[in-house]
Amino acid sequence: MNRRGFFTASALAAAGVAGFRVAAVNAADSPATGLVAAREFRIGEALVTALSDGYLPIDASALIGIDAEGFSALLADAYLPGPAHPTGVNAYLVDHGGRLTLIDAGTGTAFGDSLGHLVSTMTALGLNPAAVDAVCATHLHPDHIGGILTEAGNPFANASLHVNEDDLAFWSNGDIKSQAPAEFQGFFDMAMGAVEAFGDRLMPFKGESDLGAGLTSLPLPGHTPGHSGFMLSSGDDTLLFFGDIVHVGPVQFPRPEITIGFDVDTEVAAATRARVFDMASADRLRIAGAHISFPGVGYVEAATEGYRFVPQSWQYG
Ligand SMILES: [Zn+2]
Repeated sequence: MNRRGFFTASALAAAGVAGFRVAAVNAADSPATGLVAAREFRIGEALVTALSDGYLPIDASALIGIDAEGFSALLADAYLPGPAHPTGVNAYLVDHGGRLTLIDAGTGTAFGDSLGHLVSTMTALGLNPAAVDAVCATHLHPDHIGGILTEAGNPFANASLHVNEDDLAFWSNGDIKSQAPAEFQGFFDMAMGAVEAFGDRLMPFKGESDLGAGLTSLPLPGHTPGHSGFMLSSGDDTLLFFGDIVHVGPVQFPRPEITIGFDVDTEVAAATRARVFDMASADRLRIAGAHISFPGVGYVEAATEGYRFVPQSWQYG
């Protein structure tokens, strides 16, 4: 054993390997993208695993209220290159209260090679998708439920699906679908395909509901009519999974009024984002964002211009 190996082995022995559960994995199982990323951390007694499904480049053309120049300037302010931002797609597995709950389910094959890595990442970590007890969907957009629709069937075959009843009503409404632009027709089909994949294990919830295992839904409408966050509480610790409150962090933290073309109601979406940022910064509430750069967990702080995101520090134990 070389000195480095000896040091590592001694340090692990001193830490007590059996009790050392918080871990990070950054391994490449895909030569095309190198994307397998996971990070574990604790919220009270809950073990949360942030899981990367991949990323999608977004540029100014997808947003409303900012031009390419302003977009690139905000990226530069955040020490990031332009003209596009690789927006992450994150899901979170919560092991708490004797239940395995998955918050959002990835994209599946809907968006190409840079996405769709959720299930392979879980498998690489030894997490069996069939062991998931509940899937809580923040909303029924394809980047949150696409991972349910695989050729081999629903990977979360034993789970129940929890989704806000207003989202369900919107995406299952044939009249709304028939009036939607052609490019959004597939969104309706995917939403209903995912819902049907759970059969009688579909469990719609209303507004603020206790979903068990320390999770409570929180209505955050605008992006979609039933878009919801999930508050996880364990002991004195809390985390809000806030879904699609943010799509391009370096732009929307400083400028919360900037919206995205995928919002069903841009005005309500912007108002909800302002309300959530205000609440999170005033209460020093930890949040997890489906589209904040992986692992997407941290705090919202009032800044000279709007807000800034403060990533959660690394947890050692
Ligand atoms: Zn999304």
